[in-house]
Amino acid sequence: MSLYLDYNASAPIISDVIEIMNNSIDIIGNPSSIHSSGRKAKKAIEDSREIIAETIDTNPKNIIFTSGATEANTLALNCSKEMTTFISSIEHDSVLKQKTNANIIPVTSEGIVNLEFLENNLKNISSENLFVSIMAVNNETGIIQPLEEISRICKKYNAIFHVDAVQAIGRISISMNNFNIDLLTVSSHKIGGPKGIGCLAVSDKVYTSLSPIIMGGGQERGFRGGTEAVSQIIGFGAAAKYSQRLKLCNTLNSRDLIEEAVVSMIPNSIIIGKNSPRVANTSLIAFKDISAESLVIALDIEGYEVSSGSACSSGKVSESHVLRAMSLDESLIKGAIRVSLTRSLNNNEILSFCTILKRIVNQISKKKKFIK
Ligand code: PMP
Repeated sequence: MSLYLDYNASAPIISDVIEIMNNSIDIIGNPSSIHSSGRKAKKAIEDSREIIAETIDTNPKNIIFTSGATEANTLALNCSKEMTTFISSIEHDSVLKQKTNANIIPVTSEGIVNLEFLENNLKNISSENLFVSIMAVNNETGIIQPLEEISRICKKYNAIFHVDAVQAIGRISISMNNFNIDLLTVSSHKIGGPKGIGCLAVSDKVYTSLSPIIMGGGQERGFRGGTEAVSQIIGFGAAAKYSQRLKLCNTLNSRDLIEEAVVSMIPNSIIIGKNSPRVANTSLIAFKDISAESLVIALDIEGYEVSSGSACSSGKVSESHVLRAMSLDESLIKGAIRVSLTRSLNNNEILSFCTILKRIVNQISKKKKFIK
């Protein structure tokens, strides 16, 4: 038996989405062609654009399809080139690495952006061109940022506000209009759609500041050249439609039961951000003096697929900049695993997972003592 507990890395593709995509594979037209086949492809893209726009409460014309959230974040940050930029310390690398000279906004030990720091800095800066990038939900901890308050501060100082909402869609409701968000990033594969497609939503206010990173045939209002990935976009639209009904909040009970069991069964384990507002499907659990990489590998052998809390790219686990930013104790910083649920688990599944986790933690701890 294997249990996939890594929704935040990539959500399982929804079976109806697969069917819709399969049925779209024979759309032969190029969406830029004016004949019937071209128009059919164009119509399918525009239908998806509408659904995605509805999901994040914005105008369909504001959506620019990209190859995923990494490209969308790159495009968003490209806007900030000539601006004084503020980026939170817990952003995904696809934001953080775009601008090495950005001002970093610290977070509290609860993982929440320091609003006082943001406001004081925006107030005291002489520049009139201000850009702020803060994610809606952190991918490692699941902690939700106070978007309404951040937006109020950005508006007060006339700063452009970019939100990486990759881990928020389908988990909490996001309204570009109500939250006064200028730029918003979405990824399809985090909501049950295909990989390799996402979008940047751009408000009217910032269209003039946007410059494309991929130029070509004028697609996507000239902001993203290249023939559109028609089937991927159709799949993304279908997933967005399902995400509106997605009940990831139903996983809350299972997540809480896992957390209670782990903390009571395994000494020196702690739940990161336990007292902060968090999405219902995510739990980041840290174990003292244990390597997360060893835990992830051992759990995988037992059939449980989880992530390390640390950034894991190209199979290499490095220290988590998020936990570092939250000033987590040094002995815990390399030992956090992320469990992100796809659905509710039954009591047997929860108990088996926690029992095996306890056994693995014990084995690793004993081995460490022996080596010492
Ligand atoms: N932002 C966040 C918060 C993410 O979690 C991820 C994916 N881990 C990305 C951006 C990048 O998304 P994509 O895979 O679509 O490029």
